[in-house]
Amino acid sequence: MDDAATYQRVDSCRVCHEDALSPFLDLGAMPPANAFLDAPDDQETAIPLEVVVCENCSHVQLQHTVDPEVLFSDYHYFSSASTPLLDHYGDYAETVTDRYLDPEDLVVEIGSNDGVLLRQFGPEIETLGVDPAENVAEVAREHGVETITSLFDPSVARQIREERGAAQAICANNVVGHVHDLHGLMTGVDALLADDGVFVVEVPYLVDLLSNHQFDTIYHEHISYFSVRSFRRLVERFDMQVLDVDRVAVQGGTIRLHVGRTSAGGSPTRMATDLGRLELAMGLDGMAPYEEFAARTESIRDHLTTLLGTLGEDGSRIVGYGAPAKGNVLLNYCDVGTETLEYLTDTTPTKQGTYSPGMHLPVRSPEAFREDPPEYALMLPWNFQEAILERETAFREDGGEFVVPIPYVNVV
Ligand code: ZN
Repeated sequence: MDDAATYQRVDSCRVCHEDALSPFLDLGAMPPANAFLDAPDDQETAIPLEVVVCENCSHVQLQHTVDPEVLFSDYHYFSSASTPLLDHYGDYAETVTDRYLDPEDLVVEIGSNDGVLLRQFGPEIETLGVDPAENVAEVAREHGVETITSLFDPSVARQIREERGAAQAICANNVVGHVHDLHGLMTGVDALLADDGVFVVEVPYLVDLLSNHQFDTIYHEHISYFSVRSFRRLVERFDMQVLDVDRVAVQGGTIRLHVGRTSAGGSPTRMATDLGRLELAMGLDGMAPYEEFAARTESIRDHLTTLLGTLGEDGSRIVGYGAPAKGNVLLNYCDVGTETLEYLTDTTPTKQGTYSPGMHLPVRSPEAFREDPPEYALMLPWNFQEAILERETAFREDGGEFVVPIPYVNVV
């Protein structure tokens, strides 16, 4: 595939459509973070990974949009593969049911993956998933979750409304940030949502990204990095309002926004108002926090490569623990490859036996790590640090140590 067909540069803001995008961080060109290779010499495309902020509405986003077909047609990320997330989805479904639903109401989830959230709703609730990746949609159907294989767009939304009626709740869990055409998505939500319905959205929170130096959560799939204020700007264009916001400690820091039609009434909670104020107090409407974040990102790269270099020179064996998408961003940005790490280990069966995008590290099962433990393991899914330390007690008791890269380089 030629590069021009793979991605495009974007010059106008995806929220306010002004040509006011100002660059502040360049992570370099790299292949998509989930594009694992079957063989180390398979061809791949390096795509720019640059972050910009809109000077008009302060929405943080990527400078380029990658063709979704390239990113999502054979998605390796199965939500259910991650145990800590399962509890999260149970809680999510319960919250939505208790607050907004009556028996026989319809819940539609945009980007329903393998159906892990929709499975958590009780049998009295009607559920329907929409997801573009055929392989994960198939798993959802096997679990009894009715799923349409498609991107969520206005025509799919109208079709669902015609066939099933309006949705009382539309959920979008860690997916709105993946959408280039935010106005198309919102047009679809507007078409499908009941008059008194709620659009419940989880997105990684820009405040947590900046505060915890999570530069590795920036990758081609994640086009937008929302604050409460920038999300508000988006939904206001569709006569909707942010009624409430929860902060959720998952995936390194997420907000759950509850959005309703302005015509349905209601006023924003204290939390929704306070977070907007916090964002202003942090200066997120200016450039300073973004420039500071870029400087910290470079500093983490320098510390990490120096540390790994020193450990290697001392003759220690180092492997990468986990092969999450964010890990591939970190490895590519820091240029950490086969000369430093022996291999990556990951519990996801579809990743085992493949090679990591860009750095071409072989991905092995956790057994490889347990049978022949190295001295050090670079913890790439640092957001699950607590669970990993608990699981790998034997490794640590035998003298093994983890290098944790984020929020700052640390050995535990
Ligand atoms: Zn804007």
